Amino acid sequence: MKILVASFQCESNSKAKLHPKRSDFEYFKGEDIFKKLVVKEIFEKEGFEVIPSIYAVALPSATVPLDVYNDYSEQILDVVRANPDVAGVYIFFHGSMEVEEIGSGELYLLKKIREIVSEDCLISLSLDAHANITDELPTYANIISGFKTVPHIDQKECQERSAKALCYCLKNNIKPYAYMCRVPFLLKNDTLQTVYEPLKSLIEETFVLENQKDVFTANLFLGHCWIDAPNTSASTVVCATSKQTAEKIAKDLANKLWATRRDYKFLCEAELPEECVKRAIEGKEKRIFITDSGDNTTAGAEGDTLGLLELLIKANPTKKTCVAGITNQEIVERFWAVSDGEEIKLSIFGGVTATVKSHGEILGWTKEIIGRSLTVSIGNVDAVFTELRSAFIEKGNFDKANVDLLSYEIVVVKLGYLFTELKPYADRELFALSDGASCVELSRLNLKRIKRPMFPLEDFEWKA
Ligand SMILES: [Zn+2]
Repeated sequence: MKILVASFQCESNSKAKLHPKRSDFEYFKGEDIFKKLVVKEIFEKEGFEVIPSIYAVALPSATVPLDVYNDYSEQILDVVRANPDVAGVYIFFHGSMEVEEIGSGELYLLKKIREIVSEDCLISLSLDAHANITDELPTYANIISGFKTVPHIDQKECQERSAKALCYCLKNNIKPYAYMCRVPFLLKNDTLQTVYEPLKSLIEETFVLENQKDVFTANLFLGHCWIDAPNTSASTVVCATSKQTAEKIAKDLANKLWATRRDYKFLCEAELPEECVKRAIEGKEKRIFITDSGDNTTAGAEGDTLGLLELLIKANPTKKTCVAGITNQEIVERFWAVSDGEEIKLSIFGGVTATVKSHGEILGWTKEIIGRSLTVSIGNVDAVFTELRSAFIEKGNFDKANVDLLSYEIVVVKLGYLFTELKPYADRELFALSDGASCVELSRLNLKRIKRPMFPLEDFEWKA
């Protein structure tokens, strides 16, 4: 019996401006996809023949253009067409890929696959915990398993769970039933972390449920508030031997998740940008970080907003300050030939005199060098401009940019929470509730296509 394997992922952000290009996807084909996926051994150990297709994964971006989507989805469909007799299909998706003109990229591809394979073929998925589940997804997938950690550290375990359940069902001739219960609740992504309550206990409960003999997977999906689509919300999905079991457990979990809706809080001081700048300047701590959460480049934003830089320049702090990773190709290009120490005139904020401080490089997601950075000083405020979108997630990013992180007392980065690697350098962390493509204030996102009512935009009673 054959199992076809694929992965196609890009978390979408409706407000972001940069649409992913073909070249933005990390891409492998054939056997090479198992450099990235762990399921091959599981399937082979159980005696299945593995048919690899492709692995195409891009960083969070604006919606996926249809031609880019078709290019990769057709490659997967070609392998399905060449193997219409597959007993199973395993796909590692994100679950929040929004494609121009067609909506959910995951659902569209599954429908196409279902047109080719037999009725009995079982489809098993692994999804990100931030997946926005479409109503029809369980109609096309038999097994759905999501990450149980936020921030995500269990991608491997999630793949294993989906793969093992698929093997078990195929070997025992079981057709599992997937039930989805939508929970009308959409929370600020950055308030949801699984190491803290209330999510911690809810996740533990899903593990207990999965130990039941007739339950294959039990999942909480938290949704992804930066896509304006009808499927944007939290949900629970349970896969079991019968519809009754799956439905009962999914509804029960949904009610428990709903009951916690008021319990999610930011894990550090979260304030408007003006207040963050004030607190950073007045703070007694040695080094204070401000995260520009509305322009979080790890969440699909461009990293090009200048709001915090402007506030800091106006505040003219006596503390040494750095704003790191502002995407601005024009500034880097225009002043790259200027030597360190020389004065330049920037056209931002109606004209600002600055001094070139250092020339450097920027690192891509897999730590390869992807472009140049130019750091300029405006009084005590240093601004690191990058010619491409970047994420300053660890000290190594500052080192490559030729910027001495340890010399600063205030550091602004374009992230939500600080990445673990930066935390040792932060004596205090301020989460700036800034505007932008990754703004965490739901009321300011102007979502028009989501289902209503939706907590916390509306406060109402609900029961699954
Ligand atoms: Zn996620």
